[in-house]
Amino acid sequence: MSVTFSSDLPDQGLPVMEPCLCTQMDESFSQWVQYGPGEPSVMRAAAAQGCYTCKGTGIEGYERSALPELNLANANAEALLNAMGIKQDYYHGEMSVAEARRGVVRARNTRIPVPPKPAWSQVFGGPRLIGGEITEESILERVNRFENFLNAVSELGAKKITWY
Ligand SMILES: [Zn+2]
Repeated sequence: MSVTFSSDLPDQGLPVMEPCLCTQMDESFSQWVQYGPGEPSVMRAAAAQGCYTCKGTGIEGYERSALPELNLANANAEALLNAMGIKQDYYHGEMSVAEARRGVVRARNTRIPVPPKPAWSQVFGGPRLIGGEITEESILERVNRFENFLNAVSELGAKKITWY
């Protein structure tokens, strides 16, 4: 599960073409992955005719955002927003670019609240479980990545940051 930070900039999606997974047992799939898009006739021959995704073309098309975005795991997004002092639901929300800049400055200049380790990571004598741990350093790394995203969208004229 993850949270994506984006902006209020109008997004004209970029078309993306990829080989459909129904072709993955055919040579054409790995050829595409290694050397770039394959010939439509070759991809069609490799496709499963009843494939729901590509309708038998062997090529899957969709649009991805053309704008800068930042995607974080839920726990990292929550820790970032807490460090920035943003008191909103971390699943979705909205802030101005000015609020975001104040949040970055705040996160760098206040003691960052580090969430407690999950109880299962401290069980003694049990199997060793390794989970992602959130530390002050890992939160500051997310603050840096957030600031890079923020600079990129504000240079393009964004006024608001949204996340969901
Ligand atoms: Zn397919």
